[in-house]
Order: sequence, then C-alpha cells, then structure tokens
Amino acid sequence: MRYAIIADIHSNLEALTAVLEDIKNQGNVAEIWCLGDIVGYGPNPRECLELLRQHKHICVAGNHDWAAISKISTADFNPLAAAAAQWTAQQLEAEDFAYLENLPLTLRQGEFTIVHGSPREPIWEYLLSVDSAQANFSKFDTRFCLVGHSHIPLVFTSSAQTEGCSLNELREKLPLRTKKQRLIINPGGVGQPRDGDPRASYAIYDSKAGALHHYRIPYNIPFTQQKMKERGLPERLATRLSYGR
Ligand code: ZN
Repeated sequence: MRYAIIADIHSNLEALTAVLEDIKNQGNVAEIWCLGDIVGYGPNPRECLELLRQHKHICVAGNHDWAAISKISTADFNPLAAAAAQWTAQQLEAEDFAYLENLPLTLRQGEFTIVHGSPREPIWEYLLSVDSAQANFSKFDTRFCLVGHSHIPLVFTSSAQTEGCSLNELREKLPLRTKKQRLIINPGGVGQPRDGDPRASYAIYDSKAGALHHYRIPYNIPFTQQKMKERGLPERLATRLSYGR
C-alpha cells in the first residue's frame, strides 16, 4: 500500500492543491496521513479544510489547529502567528470547529506513530536537534514516528547497535527495511516550507517497497501572497513564502 504524508498545510490552498494533484498523478495512494496544522498563517483555512475532507485521510491536531478554535491560547505564539490565528478563527464555520475539535493528538498506523510536534509533547515540541530526538525515541513504541511542526524535512535515526542518534536531511528516497534502526521522520511543510526551498514538501510511504519517497512541488506563490495581502494578513507571513524561511 502507498500512503501520502503531508504536514503543515497552513491554509495555503495553492500549495495543498499542487500536492494533491501530484499525489493523484503518482497513483495508487490509499490514504493521506496529515500531521496537523491544516490552518493558521495562510489565506484559505476553510477551503483547505474542505479540500482535505474530500480525500480519504487521517489527521492529528497541530498547535495552530487548536489555536484557531481557542483550545489553546495564542499567548505563546509570536505576534504575527497570533494575529493570523485570530483572523483564522473568524473564517471558520461550525463544521470546521467540530472537525478541528475532534482531531486526536496521536495516531498509530501499523509501524508508525503519528504526531504533530513530538511523541512526548504532541502539540508544542520542535524536533530539530539530536538531543531532543534522542529523548523522544523512548516515548513511542513503533519503529517509526512521523512529525511535522518545524516545516523542515529531516530524519533522525536511532541505532540499536551503536545506541546513538543521528540527524540527516530527508533525501529523495529513504529505505525503511533495516530492522535495527528506528526513525523519526519529518516530511517538511506543504504550505510554509522553512528549509530554504519554497516549494511544497511532502512524502509517500510505500509499504511494499519498504521505502519513503520525498517530493518537492512548485506552486503559484505570488497568487497565495496576493490573497494574503487582500485579506490583511501580516506582510512578513506572505514574503517568507518566497524564500521558504
Ligand atoms: Zn506548522
């Protein structure tokens, strides 16, 4: 079976549409696994929720999803993120609130644990260092864990042989066959990449081939930025899309 792994859509309809189109073209994808933050930052929260709901998918909650429905306060958000969260809340309808309200914090799919931030702090923790990843390998019991939140495609490897942990960028193909290794994988962000590449980032897991494939998809960034401007969203949130930072 093949599964598409998407994270951090952030109300970016053009990026989500481009990724869904690519998933369709790749073919034979049974289900989408979404790692949270469907909304926040971007200009089309409702449309992104609606489009995602039209596809067979599972999804966990992200901090921006909870902020949009006031399930967490935006006190810990930076001012731009907080402003976008407040704007997002005003756009949502009852069905959107209900959908976001019911998102679980953690999901388990076969050999994968799925969270937004980290296994020990599913909503808040950024996994960007070997130290933080190492502390989290004991917090899930599957071989693999999928995380989003940082918008940076990367993979942490924990090796039973060396008892060590390493951090690598997520390349085009990641083999998942080695039984002696456990991995924490971030597919990168769909709607607001932060690794210096502005193209949307996502992955497909192929269970039969025992591999995960990472893809970068171009989309119409100026169009998204134009809509953000029209809706009065903070300018910095629009310009960063050009740089993938
Ligand atoms: Zn995010």
